[in-house]
Amino acid sequence: MTLRDAFWETVPLSKMRPEEWEALCDGCGKCCLNKIEDADSGEVFLTRVACRLLDDQSCRCGQYDIRKSLVPECIVLTPDTIDKHAYWMPQTCAYRLLWQGKPLPEWHPLLSGDPDSVHRAGVSVRGLTVPEFEVDEDDWEDHIIEEPTQESRS
Ligand code: SF4
Ligand code: SF4
Repeated sequence: MTLRDAFWETVPLSKMRPEEWEALCDGCGKCCLNKIEDADSGEVFLTRVACRLLDDQSCRCGQYDIRKSLVPECIVLTPDTIDKHAYWMPQTCAYRLLWQGKPLPEWHPLLSGDPDSVHRAGVSVRGLTVPEFEVDEDDWEDHIIEEPTQESRS
């Protein structure tokens, strides 16, 4: 894997190598939580009801390579589709931050050199989720949560 030095600061999203694009993911797991979108206002609410493939401890997809065949509705984010999806993505998501022209936070594994820094910073979903097969979709609104951020944990 060849990542250019500080590529997230110098290379536009559309010019990143596939491995650089993948490395942007901080492993927070928040995009794998089900959301509720208000049809009128467009407001997006996050729930703690997780996709059936999300591992609550690692915050990673349990079947990443074949996820589309198991969860057809899973969204594969690419430089071509980020314009369409950025509005519902988590505030701390590296793709959204760079798309907004913002820097990566200091706890991002690319800066810390440690994949666990996202959990220590309290911005991941570790230990927060319930699997979607335990909650009827009609009850998701009972599980709405604030997005975990450093501010929300302080
Ligand atoms: S929200 Fe963004 S950074 Fe977090 S797991 Fe999803 S794609 Fe990765
Ligand atoms: S299939 Fe995997 S990547 Fe897609 S939402 Fe579910 S856990 Fe996340």
